[in-house]
Amino acid sequence: MTDAKRSALRHWLSDVRESRDHPHDAGIDPCGVHWQRHAEGVLELTPSGMDATATTSDAADGKSPSAAEQPSHRYDAVLSCGIHGDETAPIEIVDGILRDIADGKLTLRERVLVVLGNPDAVRAGKRYLEYDLNRLFQGAHAKRAESPAVQRARELEVIVAQFFAGVDGVRRQRRHVDMHTAIRASLFPRFAVVPGTPERPPRAAWFDALAAADIEATMRTEQPSVTFSYYTCARFGAESCTLELGKVAPFGENPLADFAGIDAALRRWLSGGDMAAREDGQVLQARRFRVAAEIVRRTDAFVLDVPADTPNFTAYPAGTVLARDGENTYTVSHPEERIVFPNPDVANGLRAGVMVVPE
Ligand SMILES: [Zn+2]
Repeated sequence: MTDAKRSALRHWLSDVRESRDHPHDAGIDPCGVHWQRHAEGVLELTPSGMDATATTSDAADGKSPSAAEQPSHRYDAVLSCGIHGDETAPIEIVDGILRDIADGKLTLRERVLVVLGNPDAVRAGKRYLEYDLNRLFQGAHAKRAESPAVQRARELEVIVAQFFAGVDGVRRQRRHVDMHTAIRASLFPRFAVVPGTPERPPRAAWFDALAAADIEATMRTEQPSVTFSYYTCARFGAESCTLELGKVAPFGENPLADFAGIDAALRRWLSGGDMAAREDGQVLQARRFRVAAEIVRRTDAFVLDVPADTPNFTAYPAGTVLARDGENTYTVSHPEERIVFPNPDVANGLRAGVMVVPE
């Protein structure tokens, strides 16, 4: 189906919030962007002038757009939000970008998959319903009983795999930005978890791009994980990150000025510019950390000696005992370690905190 009048970009968020079902349709937005809806809340956008079904040889047929209109074709970009349903600021950022593309205020020049992760949880205003969606990727869904969250994780993995397979045989840079807001205070209110593998560590340019987006700290991790961003990094070699962008708030109550840096950076990138090149010319540096250890709760005897409301990145000196689990203890072994995502109440076998050290 092609509907040249209806703007899927303008209605992306309202369609989800009002649960208007438009399964698997496609069209060309009045702004010229080709869109394809793969599932609820999931839109693949192809810039005007870049035929969504073109083969490489089509590009040489003499009817290609002029250089000024040429999409940049550098990236296959995945932009995700709402993996946790109550983290509304990133959803509003993405909605604003889509509306500005629809209104012709922003020219899309990259192929992008826009993902609103958990529409059921967004409508319920909850982080998640029966299970945390961001613990179900990298095949983890296959190890759990069937449920809507398990189904959604599997569906998103299939769609992302098809998207990264490309449309015209051209291998583009793959990048995935997964946006969240945090449930606790943080000494660095905006920070990024940057996954990598020993074979493919993240490029320095990726950290520069995040710093230019007002991200104050990065934590690099090579720990295998079941998050969405680890999945796209490990499975597809994407330059990925999970962004934590300040505190959770309901729709309409987010201090959007706090998110201006990431909003501007995403717009620079998707419109064909350099995410790292700020309009004000400033060159910012984020504090860089790497994951040194994870504190895992093994038994019912587990005690984390860190209050639940401890801000992310709180530092502890060498020798501090942070957790006890029967005969085992976790003792800070580096001159200084900082704790991120402390959670004394996790189930046995799960992570009760992540310890980071400076890079
Ligand atoms: Zn989240």
